[in-house]
Amino acid sequence: MNIADIDTSAVKGFLDREEALCLHRVAQMAGKKGNCLEIGSYCGKSAVYIGLACRENGAKLYSIDHHRGSAEQQLGEAYYDPELYDAAQCCINTLPHFLTTLESFSLVDSVIPIVGDSVSVAKSWNEALALVFIDGGHSFADTYNDYNAWACCVMPGGYLAIHDIFATATEGGQSPRWILQAALASGLFLLVEQVKTLAILQRTPLGIVPEAMLMRFQDFA
Ligand code: MG
Repeated sequence: MNIADIDTSAVKGFLDREEALCLHRVAQMAGKKGNCLEIGSYCGKSAVYIGLACRENGAKLYSIDHHRGSAEQQLGEAYYDPELYDAAQCCINTLPHFLTTLESFSLVDSVIPIVGDSVSVAKSWNEALALVFIDGGHSFADTYNDYNAWACCVMPGGYLAIHDIFATATEGGQSPRWILQAALASGLFLLVEQVKTLAILQRTPLGIVPEAMLMRFQDFA
């Protein structure tokens, strides 16, 4: 299978093709180390690219979403999509679309949907992850809470990917960029690649104390 031949144009989503191919490449490296996790399944576009890489390595992708849409996707908001509105339940419901995507790309055995609030899921999580992709709600509270809950689960040498990084507020919301800065300031992550609005960070390998951390400890000496 050549990932460049995979056609996801029928899957709703906001992931650029170059970003998708970058995610796939990082997930291929990550899948050799352990399982991957994404926050913000939506209709499954990123799950296809990460999930196919996981499938190659016999790894799993956990994909978390409450599937009720983020604030900007609700009725009357800028990203509202009437095709995602579930009239019977009177709310946005992306879960059927997500499950259809998994079936279409033969990913039901490689992608594990987790329906719920990401912070609640994190409270009982105890597996170190080779890749965490943050692409959930874009309010500052959502973004910060996702980072705070999941960055600590990235194994040494593993990857933290953050979507929707915009240099200025005119281009887009700044919350993802703020958590990127927080991750870099922690000294635990290094920026290894940025493709359009997708940032890829790598957790410092075990045994290596980052310079930023050493400097911080020297402050207390
Ligand atoms: Mg996004």
